[in-house]
Amino acid sequence: MLFITCLLTIPARLAGETPEPACEIEGVSEYQLDNGLKVLLVPDSSIPTLTVNLIIRAGSRHEPYGQKGIAHLLEHMMFKGTATYPDVRNVIRRNGWSMQASTWNDFTNYETTMPGTRENLEEIIHFEADRFANLRVTSSQLIEELKIVLNENSNAKASPENVLTEQMISAAFPWHNYGRATIGNQGDLSKITVDSLEAFRQTHYRTDNATIVLAGRFEPKRALENIRAHFGRLMCPERVPPIESTIDPPQTGERRVTVRGMTGKPVAALLYHGPAGAHEDFAALEIFLSALMDATPGYLWAQERFRSAAVVSPDILGDGQLWGRISGLKQRGFVELYGTMPTDSAPEPLLNELIAATERFAESVTREQVRTAKRRVLARMQSQLLDLRSFAVELRYWESLGDWRLYFLHRDRVKNVHVDDVRRVAKRYLHRNNRTEGLYFASSEPVVTTIQEPQVPTESFDGFRRESAVSVGEWIEPEPLAVESRVNRHSFPNGVKVALLPKRTRGSMVHARLTFRLDSNVMPVTDTGALSLLPKLITSTNAKATSRRRVPGSVGLGTTFGSNTDDGFSITIRSEKEHFLVMLERLNHLLSEPCFTQDEFESLKRTNVASLERRSRLPYPLADEHLRRSGAKSIQEELDSLKSITFADVLDCYRQLTGNVHGEFVAVGDFEPKAVIAKVALPLDRWQSEHKFQPSSSHQVESETTELQIDGSPSACFAGDLYVQVGRDHPDYVALLVAHRVWMLHRLIPRISQDVGLSYYYSNALQPLPGTDQSRVSLRATCDSVRLLELKRAIADSFFSLHSTDITVDELSLAKEQLANSARMKFWSDKSLLSSLAESTSENRSFVDDSNLTRRINEVALADVQRAGQSYLKFDQMVIVVAGDVASAADPDQ
Ligand SMILES: [Zn+2]
Repeated sequence: MLFITCLLTIPARLAGETPEPACEIEGVSEYQLDNGLKVLLVPDSSIPTLTVNLIIRAGSRHEPYGQKGIAHLLEHMMFKGTATYPDVRNVIRRNGWSMQASTWNDFTNYETTMPGTRENLEEIIHFEADRFANLRVTSSQLIEELKIVLNENSNAKASPENVLTEQMISAAFPWHNYGRATIGNQGDLSKITVDSLEAFRQTHYRTDNATIVLAGRFEPKRALENIRAHFGRLMCPERVPPIESTIDPPQTGERRVTVRGMTGKPVAALLYHGPAGAHEDFAALEIFLSALMDATPGYLWAQERFRSAAVVSPDILGDGQLWGRISGLKQRGFVELYGTMPTDSAPEPLLNELIAATERFAESVTREQVRTAKRRVLARMQSQLLDLRSFAVELRYWESLGDWRLYFLHRDRVKNVHVDDVRRVAKRYLHRNNRTEGLYFASSEPVVTTIQEPQVPTESFDGFRRESAVSVGEWIEPEPLAVESRVNRHSFPNGVKVALLPKRTRGSMVHARLTFRLDSNVMPVTDTGALSLLPKLITSTNAKATSRRRVPGSVGLGTTFGSNTDDGFSITIRSEKEHFLVMLERLNHLLSEPCFTQDEFESLKRTNVASLERRSRLPYPLADEHLRRSGAKSIQEELDSLKSITFADVLDCYRQLTGNVHGEFVAVGDFEPKAVIAKVALPLDRWQSEHKFQPSSSHQVESETTELQIDGSPSACFAGDLYVQVGRDHPDYVALLVAHRVWMLHRLIPRISQDVGLSYYYSNALQPLPGTDQSRVSLRATCDSVRLLELKRAIADSFFSLHSTDITVDELSLAKEQLANSARMKFWSDKSLLSSLAESTSENRSFVDDSNLTRRINEVALADVQRAGQSYLKFDQMVIVVAGDVASAADPDQ
């Protein structure tokens, strides 16, 4: 485990004059060794002591997952000695050193104060360089020390404020390591090994990541010689330190943490994200806190407790205390305010007062309060500068931010803070969306649930058997003719169509669907709002219960589910073989009279209104539904009509439709066709219209672009429909189908997703419109609002490319292959079989047509595909709706 970074080379300069420092400010001189070690000398021969502070710019922020607490544990292990200094306690005692170490988010430091003698100077430099490079740790030492560290851990957890702080910071920084407490995680700590400790040390304890500060009584020239002699020969590893990339996205609303514990008094606390310590706002925010608290806030853990009637009223605070602190760390910062409460009081009122006082103070803070606060902070900094020991320690903080000189820069910034700066930063950082609130309740009986270590109970599988194996399904070749040969088609005298595919299925399940389609002459008289509620109401809980009562013994036999379709509605049934006929009988009852209740109606209406309102603010549904209605009702009008619907309207709709619609029934699964036909004859007959089905007429739509602005929406949707005068029977239909697939695969997708990542959610389909001589190309794609115009441009380009670039043989064959695959997909599962069966039956087709289509797709010529693409797939004839923060979209040409 010992890794020697020591190399016995002779340092370049050993003797001579004190070299020129790289930089010097107010008695602090900076030097740098060739291996990157930074040296800060603050000599003062008027005092008897010397303080040496070794700062490593690595702390808990740098800990990997599963090793939370390792930086602090290593700090402890740094006192375990080396081959040269096997007994650290003895060295300390012998020389009269006073030694301390600490670990924080951004740094670890080792501070020693001693009588300022030559011998001490030489010994401490030798000692620090030696343990920096040659630390030796055994597993038994690690196990021993771990007890002490775990004890520190439980001590920290005993203080309500510490526990609350830990959880609030964790809530404020869900990703960044600032959210993980330096003290670490007990589970992680107990699994840290000598090897992982050594790996962490070698990664971060490198000369270019360390600074040594000497302050007090010493000879600068001799000190530099000593440092060069001992630290100068350590080699800095060549490998680069790990890259830190994790940041938290800006907070977008208040967060609240509640802790209940047995000890202490109730606590209310606030935490706001703030700037990093090197940021210029940090000084003004520090002055704000000082003015608010009427005291000097300490950095980091140095905190001041006080009571201030200006902040919260005494009758709420009672004998409690307030304190605050500001932490400007290397990458981020935060401001915290805490208040303890009298025992037995509730912390919420204090929290509310603390919030109000803090967030309102920006308006009321006076010039005089700012002046006083500045005087206090500057006085504290001045006294640090005068006490060399505390100054040497203070420098660790600014060094951990990247440069000790920030101490002086910060002092200047504090001097220049104006009351307007204080107001500005307060408004910027201290507001609701940036706030984490904390409440600690002292509770007499806290209940905790400890989750056990997961274990798979392998012994429980001994002799484990299912009661009976699930029956296995039957394989039908996924080819149209093979499937069609098994389909049982039937027509009732009145024209009602039934298509049944009896086959063995997994678990003997039967899937069935009854579809009702509305005549175009029924559509206008039907209230579309009422129709949108009807299918769910027909299969409502009460309706099912009523039908169950009429068909005794039919509890829990299967499911019935109603949903709306483009031109009507459908009811889907799923049940096991043995219950299927009973389910059909139940369906008959559901369709014989309305069995749903007014309560169910009201509840469904509320749900639908809420869903429509929500969709009206989401780009995709908004654009999609606007386009589907193509100029009929706006989503708002739809909402209004939905809200105005009464229970009587729905009953009316039910009665109007009975005897006036067209229906089909399809089923896939384990059943006896004759028995099924007998059962469905009745409901179908009751609802079926005597007239021939009149589909809605062709779409006559003008190409145009509609923009639907949703302020502040990060995402946007492009929805476009293109109507082409090519129906399923048109001679160009097959060529168009292939051209569409070529365009989608080779022209559209590379432009919007594959190559540029503009849009990863898109759908695209070409669909013949039943009963018309038209087909529709529907394209939906989402993107970031700012990139909407870019997306629109890319889509347009994909269409134009059909004119500018010839379709290649490869493009054609891949498109044909894909179409053949999607054709087979229709037959791959019982559910997709059901949908395909429903679709073809409603269009008076059989799967023989699918087979013909596949053959024709294979035979279509490149020239025909090319021509069809150019004649029909035209961007400028597309009806387009874009929704999102359209105003924020950036023009790709600019
Ligand atoms: Zn410790």
